Amino acid sequence: MSCPAHFFDNARAPLGERVASIASRVRGSPEETIVRNDAGRHANMNSPDLQQHPHRRLNPLTREWVLVSPHRTARPWLGKVESPQPEEQPRYDPSCYLCPGNSRAGGIRNPLYSSTFVFDNDYPTLLPNGSEISVDESGLLVARSEAGVCRVVCFSPRHDLTIPRMSEDELCDVVDVWVEQYKNLASLPRARHVQVFENRGALVGASNPHPHCQIWANESLPNEPAKERTSFENYFNSHGGCLLCDYLQLESRLAARMVCQNDDFAVAVPYWAIWPFETLLLSKRHFATMAELSNGERRSLAGILKRITILYDNLFQTSFPYSMGFHQGPADGAEHREWHFHAHYYPPLLRSATVRKFMVGYELLNMPQRDITPETAAARLREVGEIHYLDRMNHSAPTS
Ligand SMILES: [Zn+2]
Ligand SMILES: [Zn+2]
Ligand SMILES: [Zn+2]
Repeated sequence: MSCPAHFFDNARAPLGERVASIASRVRGSPEETIVRNDAGRHANMNSPDLQQHPHRRLNPLTREWVLVSPHRTARPWLGKVESPQPEEQPRYDPSCYLCPGNSRAGGIRNPLYSSTFVFDNDYPTLLPNGSEISVDESGLLVARSEAGVCRVVCFSPRHDLTIPRMSEDELCDVVDVWVEQYKNLASLPRARHVQVFENRGALVGASNPHPHCQIWANESLPNEPAKERTSFENYFNSHGGCLLCDYLQLESRLAARMVCQNDDFAVAVPYWAIWPFETLLLSKRHFATMAELSNGERRSLAGILKRITILYDNLFQTSFPYSMGFHQGPADGAEHREWHFHAHYYPPLLRSATVRKFMVGYELLNMPQRDITPETAAARLREVGEIHYLDRMNHSAPTS
């Protein structure tokens, strides 16, 4: 009876009429509920319906939607079970190309470094110089040359010391190196974007467990920051303020999606999160790049990085894998007052240390989809406690 074609027949009528007309045709069918709820969708941003019924949420930074299906969390499928990773890493691994004193590609030997260590990637994705390429065949075959620099930053000489296990002083050294590298790379004549990012864990493709991140600088604004920049500018033009300043104010007031915060930074599961435990790290002050961090904010950033990663590790009592990175204003020498400094954490784990989410099928072809709501994810992260589970085990071990 309720052929989906009815939806199309009716698509040009005003929304109210469409809803009434469709509802009358599909009464008694499962679609009826969908149509009725549709009519009241502007009612309440905290509606309990959002915790029970399928809906989509807009990411105002990218203007893309995510499908949320909270009713599916009861389904029996358990997801793909990954083999547990070996939890214990040695302090030093003689076969690791990032450990102090070891040799890398081409026989280059790492110094016996004692804090952080930065070097140009031996297999860089981008090269600093190259021939100018500009292809445009009927707007169909389009290519441009892209110059850039790729660096690696080892967080510490310790092969086993991940961010949640580092001291705040050690993390301050990491933040200082990021700032120094950001300034250095942003000052390169052709630089337009500097990306600091960390892939942690084999599940997100990290090639080496030695804690490290990468910094790539390149001469064009990549896709994601380009979308965000347009949104920051449009929001400023239409609302007269900053998208993320306003968003942070809203999340602080509502509290449901806040995970942790200190004087200068806050972490929330964004309303539009795609990954089950995705978070957004926001500065409380409005500024665009790391170069503008005060000394106090550098320490606060170190502190909040440690806190969110402890919560992540505690969630499934594992070394929690993620891809994370900072989104900073374009590094083109201009002042970018529209941009608000932030970082994204994209972790793949879904419901245990061994069950991950995949972005395939409908998601690859249409739009991302999630089951657990961002509100539930934030509540779970808040509940797990800020003492690292390995430290809790050590505290509770009998002393002799
Ligand atoms: Zn190592
Ligand atoms: Zn702002
Ligand atoms: Zn961003």
